[in-house]
Amino acid sequence: MTEITNIINKQRDFFNSNTTKDIGFRKTQLKKLYAILKSNEQLLDEAIYADFRKSSFENYTTELSIIYHEIKLALKNLNNWTRTQRVGTDIANLPGKSYIIPEPLGNTLVIGAWNYPYQLSILPAVSAIAAGNTVIIKPSELAKNTSAAMCKIINENFAEEILQVVEGGIEETTLLLKEKFDKIFYTGSSEVGKIIMRAAADHLCPVVLELGGKSPVFILKDANIHLAAKRIVWAKFLNGGQTCVAPDYLLVEKGLKDKLVTAIKKEIQSQYGSNIKESEAFVRIINKRHFNRLLSLLDKSKIILGGNTDIDDLFISPTLMGDISFNDKVMQEEIFGPILPIIEFEDFDWAIKMVKERPKPLALYVFSNNTKRINKIHHEISFGSGAVNDAIMQLTNVNLPFGGVGYSGMGSYHGKYGFDTFSHYKSILKKTNLFEPSIKYAPFTSLKKKIISLMLE
Ligand code: NAD
Repeated sequence: MTEITNIINKQRDFFNSNTTKDIGFRKTQLKKLYAILKSNEQLLDEAIYADFRKSSFENYTTELSIIYHEIKLALKNLNNWTRTQRVGTDIANLPGKSYIIPEPLGNTLVIGAWNYPYQLSILPAVSAIAAGNTVIIKPSELAKNTSAAMCKIINENFAEEILQVVEGGIEETTLLLKEKFDKIFYTGSSEVGKIIMRAAADHLCPVVLELGGKSPVFILKDANIHLAAKRIVWAKFLNGGQTCVAPDYLLVEKGLKDKLVTAIKKEIQSQYGSNIKESEAFVRIINKRHFNRLLSLLDKSKIILGGNTDIDDLFISPTLMGDISFNDKVMQEEIFGPILPIIEFEDFDWAIKMVKERPKPLALYVFSNNTKRINKIHHEISFGSGAVNDAIMQLTNVNLPFGGVGYSGMGSYHGKYGFDTFSHYKSILKKTNLFEPSIKYAPFTSLKKKIISLMLE
């Protein structure tokens, strides 16, 4: 028996013991997770710095604080979320009672991506534990220091049968996918998402796929250009552009481009200083393969800002590309790096049509105060989540479900939505034994049919 089979067997037996159904047990695990993350912040900071040169400040704001908030939210709301809900009963079932019991799914697998290594692996695990499941986390092997850090602190503090980290790449993930889980929560590229879904199909295991894609930003003529530039520079170059919901490209209404480029240039200078390489706020590309992939997207003749690269330091400066059309190479795949192409448009309907013709984006942003035009975009284009006059910040609001649609994914999480994702809502109808109308039973008569039609329609 492999080590992986051994862990999953233990988790299966443990789940069947019903221990995780106890709300107190779940709260104890969540509190423990909170405590070990807090007491190991230095280790977690060092590991993420080694993987990307990500600062402690950014590790806190974009990873750990989000996990802490999610744990606290679950602890506060768990009694309420797990409560059996009474619902109305239809006339055909009276007298009777109807209710819905939230129940855990069982044994779950979380496969994380490398770009926000803590958040993307631990946040789904928080929801899974809150909902009463056991969890195996498989972090991305590309962020090897953060993967090792999570493995160390979780496996040293949690029993194998409750929560365990299994490190590794394709080989280990393939072994994991052979096992039967009750839910697989995957974050990563759409191509690997297909592999996950195919493997899950063998066990009819439900999946959540948190995928990527090209997230457009509309900048309309009435936009506040100064604020748009500030927010776009933050959102695009955060984590070196390696954010699934980062603005991928700008769709700028004719006449705005020069003003916008000037404002973006000013913002880059103000947020990262004149020597960007030395800025502690500017993160590196994860590895040489992604660095070279990004270089291949750069058309030197179209660079209007930045374009400085250093392979030894895995550094690519914030780069703007102008005169871009949907046919350029940079528009054929998700960029996932600090390169920002600008497409200008004159015809608003054409711009909407071009986005609609492409795979459904994970995120979409609009900078404008024109409610009619904003509503038109929201009405016509399908996408996972979005913001108006901002970018990325929608995912910090736990009242909003976070997830993709179509090619950018399926299922959602964050806050109560994460609890729902890892729960089954079991429906129960409880009938009285006091009496039983004969109406549904044979022999059938036309009078019975008439009465039934009055009740059922
Ligand atoms: P990745 O290379 O880290 O892969 C993700 C996971 O899949 C890893 O755990 C990896 O080990 C596993 N994996 C890779 N190849 C596999 C294979 N052949 N078989 C089985 N498992 C395999 O991450 P990535 O895919 O490069 O991530 C980047 C993508 O993820 C981007 O498209 C980005 O937009 C997307 N993403 C989405 C979200 C979201 O929340 N929707 C968040 C972050 C990243």
